[in-house]
Amino acid sequence: MSKRDYYEVLGVEKSAGEAELKKAYRKLAMKYHPDRNKGDHEAEKKFKEASEAYEVLRDPQKRQRYDQFGHAGMNGGGFGGASDFGNADFEDIFSRFSDIFGGDIFGGEAFGGGGRRQSRRRRGTGRPGSDMKLRVELTLEEIAEGVEKTLKVKKQVKCDSCSGTGAETESDFETCGTCNGTGEVRQVSRTMFGQFVNVQPCPTCSGEGRIIKNKCSECGGEGRKRSEDNIKVNIPSGVSKGNYITLRRQGNAGVRGGEPGDLIVLIEEKEHENFEREGNDIYYDLHLSIPDAILGTEVQVPTLKGKAKVKVEPGTQPGKLLRMRGRGIVGLNNSGTGDQFIKVNIYVPKDLTPEERKHVEALRGEKHFDPSDAEEREKGFFSKIKDVFS
Ligand SMILES: [Zn+2]
Ligand SMILES: [Zn+2]
Repeated sequence: MSKRDYYEVLGVEKSAGEAELKKAYRKLAMKYHPDRNKGDHEAEKKFKEASEAYEVLRDPQKRQRYDQFGHAGMNGGGFGGASDFGNADFEDIFSRFSDIFGGDIFGGEAFGGGGRRQSRRRRGTGRPGSDMKLRVELTLEEIAEGVEKTLKVKKQVKCDSCSGTGAETESDFETCGTCNGTGEVRQVSRTMFGQFVNVQPCPTCSGEGRIIKNKCSECGGEGRKRSEDNIKVNIPSGVSKGNYITLRRQGNAGVRGGEPGDLIVLIEEKEHENFEREGNDIYYDLHLSIPDAILGTEVQVPTLKGKAKVKVEPGTQPGKLLRMRGRGIVGLNNSGTGDQFIKVNIYVPKDLTPEERKHVEALRGEKHFDPSDAEEREKGFFSKIKDVFS
């Protein structure tokens, strides 16, 4: 099933700002809200579609990726990005967009679950860590088969000495007086939609519900510190430049036990000394001498797995492509294995010894060296692609 453009889904211009996106989504969410459309699967689909679009476009990083690569960039055949909301439960969506569904606009109880979950998550835990991006450069050989890489990552990691709490000991906490430990402050207001409650994180304790009396000396109360970590990542075969892999919770540690961010591994491709890549196929330039092209020979060519012998038929023409089936790159997500192509070039020497010149002069004017006797040449020209391994 082809996906609709996210901007189209929300009915906004590509240049739409944050407030406009929020407004557009809120409107759709109210229209297709599951509580107002009980059992209506079309409405449910529309609700989820809008939620997914909003989830991506409200996040500047995801939005940029979407603008650049479209839906392919978001999912990229198994690569992380947008979550697919197709199977998401409503609770999940509500808690994710608590800034929109928070409060009582839709009548309270329906959102109780999401609301409760939100406040439970907030209480006692600190700010989430930020996402990180890391580039990894791969050789064609690594891409061809897939590879496990160990990445050295400088990042914020949880402080060992306080286990991420930020306090010297567990008894160094006291309950926040502003919010009485709930981590939230509530404001009730009345609007044309009815009464609703605006819940904000407590400014005194940043929503943590407690305050540290005696900060951990190791991390100064942050609950995290800068360090280096070795992270293993399995890169599947067939990736290409611009693909990325999202490693959940492997980014910067959060403040005082907050959720860690994600680590986004961006794929780069090293130039290869022998091959050019085209999709899953690779191309190699072979240079033949004139006698070898005329008489045929056997040559050694590099492949992604060592050297291989290739037979060159007598009368091989310049520009001819020889195919080595299955010697290319193993495609991403079982999209098939590519081939290695060998492009034939004929080497024409420029400097000749008098002796060599005599040989060539003798060939000039010989019947089969005359291009006007072109029947043979034409035949060769139209059957450039020859499978040498079939
Ligand atoms: Zn600490
Ligand atoms: Zn507080």
